[in-house]
Amino acid sequence: MARVLVVGGGPAGMMAALTARQSGWNVTLLERNEKLGKKLYITGKGRCNLTNAVSRQEFLTHVPRNARFLYSALDALDSFALMEWVEGLGVPLVVERGQRVFPASMKSSDINRAFEAALRREGVEIRLQSRVRELLIENGRVLGVCMEDGSALCAQHVIVATGGLSYPATGSTGDGFRWAEHVGHRVSELSPALVPIETADTWIPSLQGISLKNVMLTARWGGKKRFEELGEMMFAHFGITGPLVLKLSSLLDPQDVAKVQVSVNLKPGLRPEQLDARVLRDLQERANQQLSRALGALLPARMLDVVLRLAEVPAEKRGHQLTAKERGRIVDLLQALPIHLRQLRGWEEAVITRGGVDVRGIDPRTMASKTVPGLSFAGEILDVDGFTGGFNLQIAFATGYCAGRNIPLDR
Ligand SMILES: Cc1cc2nc3c(=O)[nH]c(=O)nc-3n(C[C@H](O)[C@H](O)[C@H](O)COP(=O)(O)OP(=O)(O)OC[C@H]3O[C@@H](n4cnc5c(N)ncnc54)[C@H](O)[C@@H]3O)c2cc1C
Repeated sequence: MARVLVVGGGPAGMMAALTARQSGWNVTLLERNEKLGKKLYITGKGRCNLTNAVSRQEFLTHVPRNARFLYSALDALDSFALMEWVEGLGVPLVVERGQRVFPASMKSSDINRAFEAALRREGVEIRLQSRVRELLIENGRVLGVCMEDGSALCAQHVIVATGGLSYPATGSTGDGFRWAEHVGHRVSELSPALVPIETADTWIPSLQGISLKNVMLTARWGGKKRFEELGEMMFAHFGITGPLVLKLSSLLDPQDVAKVQVSVNLKPGLRPEQLDARVLRDLQERANQQLSRALGALLPARMLDVVLRLAEVPAEKRGHQLTAKERGRIVDLLQALPIHLRQLRGWEEAVITRGGVDVRGIDPRTMASKTVPGLSFAGEILDVDGFTGGFNLQIAFATGYCAGRNIPLDR
């Protein structure tokens, strides 16, 4: 049996190793860490949002870059097929709000354990603490890999699934990008994505820890409204985070973040005149109370303080003392609180990597290099990324599945 080496024991590599083995190859899985799936373990806050139970067509609307590259991979393994596959490994799943799929146990470790058991059962050789230093290349063909200790491993085919650059402590430090460039693949610019955003407003740190549900985040750049979504966001000492912010971060050009105009509608369910009437009612009912109390039902106290400060209305004023103009300024801010962005946070906090091995150089059915015989790529190393909700793990599993299933017999 000819040998296949899979570099990287994350979701993409584990799936590639398993399907290559099931396709009859002799497979060795090389992982630099002391265990498999270190990043998978921390996904979904330790619960592992495995995939998203939506149709292929809808899935692709959650992939902001190079979605079309995934047509074949999702044809081979869409969300429902992955769910069946994982349940077949003995891990029952549940579908939650937003069609997000989790193990019923809510433990990512169950997914890791099931994959590792399947790999061992099928006879994949797993080598832990085995860091690949570079690819072994002769006459433009990949012949194997060189390990960090200087030894070489030869193979018919190498699948590189070394992940991106985010959360480098999990083992993904971008080794595969260097190898790809070395053999002539283009790697598009790499930047952190699904990442919190630093802000310039001095009032933001005072809101650290406040989480806002059902707010509308709007962002404009290049003279157009480009993002408007309802959801949840949070304040941190450096800026903003939470689901809405992470999604927005994936759409921004990292060089131009400071040019983006962002505002938050804190009361998106009310039209301006309805909100004005609501504020007026609160003020009338508590006419003798200070504003910080009279309007206390509207917002968390620290948030209200900020709104009053930005509206240039003293918090000590009493309800009956507020002028119509001042009330107008408060209502305007409640529906369009401006936030000034500075820059994206770094790799340590990014859920995924934007950019990667240019998909134009990869066969979308096999994940094999179009130019270098003996080489395939799978997972986050590719220039494809999804929003939060299970899309990125699905991309990793589906591309890993294709890479392992369809190893070209080119030697
Ligand atoms: C905090 C966090 C939460 C997340 N939550 C979710 C979620 O709930 N749902 C979702 O869909 N996505 C989630 N993601 C994204 C998801 O984890 C990644 O998209 C996915 O893990 C990518 O899989 P991969 O196999 O391509 O890469 P990785 O999981 O990064 O695996 C790559 C592996 O290669 C190994 N490796 C690297 N270089 C070498 C080398 N030279 N030699 C040997 N081995 C090497 C690494 O040690 C690593 O184990 C989350 C990410 C983070 C950081």
